[in-house]
Amino acid sequence: MAGKLKVACIYDFDLTLSEEYQQFPIFREFADGIRKKYGITSIDDYFPTLCSGQGIDVGVGAMQQVLRDAQDIFPNLTNERLRRVYGPQIQLAPGLPEWFPRMTDYARELSLDLSHHVISAGFSPLIEGTSLTPYLASIRSGTFLEGSQGIERIKTIVDPNSKREEIIKICKGTDVHEDVSIDDYHITYENVIVIGDGSSDRRKFNFILERGGIAIGVYPCGDNEHKERAQRDLTGRVHYLVPRDYTSHSSLELMVRHSLEKMATRTCQFDFHLVHGLKLNHMRSPELKEITQKHLEGCDDCQERNKDTILLEEQAF
Ligand SMILES: [Zn+2]
Repeated sequence: MAGKLKVACIYDFDLTLSEEYQQFPIFREFADGIRKKYGITSIDDYFPTLCSGQGIDVGVGAMQQVLRDAQDIFPNLTNERLRRVYGPQIQLAPGLPEWFPRMTDYARELSLDLSHHVISAGFSPLIEGTSLTPYLASIRSGTFLEGSQGIERIKTIVDPNSKREEIIKICKGTDVHEDVSIDDYHITYENVIVIGDGSSDRRKFNFILERGGIAIGVYPCGDNEHKERAQRDLTGRVHYLVPRDYTSHSSLELMVRHSLEKMATRTCQFDFHLVHGLKLNHMRSPELKEITQKHLEGCDDCQERNKDTILLEEQAF
């Protein structure tokens, strides 16, 4: 593998790789307890009622709320049970996990070394329990400390604000605060594809967009309301907005293949930050502005990465 260009796909988990929130298998098993304790009759209402409705961030809030309920209505919730019992029950998006080896093989044909990573505000043991794990180079999510009765305290948290730092760690291959020369980066940002579903991924999308990487937003197949919401939230923030469908010949596959092909054949050495700065009209120096404008006019690659959001429907090819 030595010498191959390293590239990465970095995914959000909930509603990006899954069709439901990762905690739903727990809620389904203890639906009675949830109804008795809170009067919540649909598990869809658990987070909106107990977290977001109270102004609590779902990342931290979800961990605290589930920990609290693990004291009574979610008995024996251990890391092991999260991994072995509930993780495998999470409903995954269509085409998973076959997507991962198929994309890795395709990248290899292009002489690219592709790795897949998950950054989630959820719980690591749940994600580890899914069939995706063998294909993932890293899972960056929250973890619990355990006592004799099961999970007891929060050990680590990934929240929407720290997702960006996790991208930096993946790309550096080290801890975020270590000084690494850009030449020694494990993966450069322009060789990263970020895939997410919603407004909590905005910072991540923006981070990668302004550094010349690719941002892809997904919306649930055949759901017009969510498609429209995704359009509202993500237009101008992602390169492509596609249905959440990882089966072969899906629009998502088409766009990821295309992006990998671009990475494999890229000759542009220009600092994409400048192109992005020009678009936002953030550039003060007239000389720099002129140089950037001139480069952009002659560079198809930068032009394409600088384009507005393209909305794709199902089955594009
Ligand atoms: Zn260029």
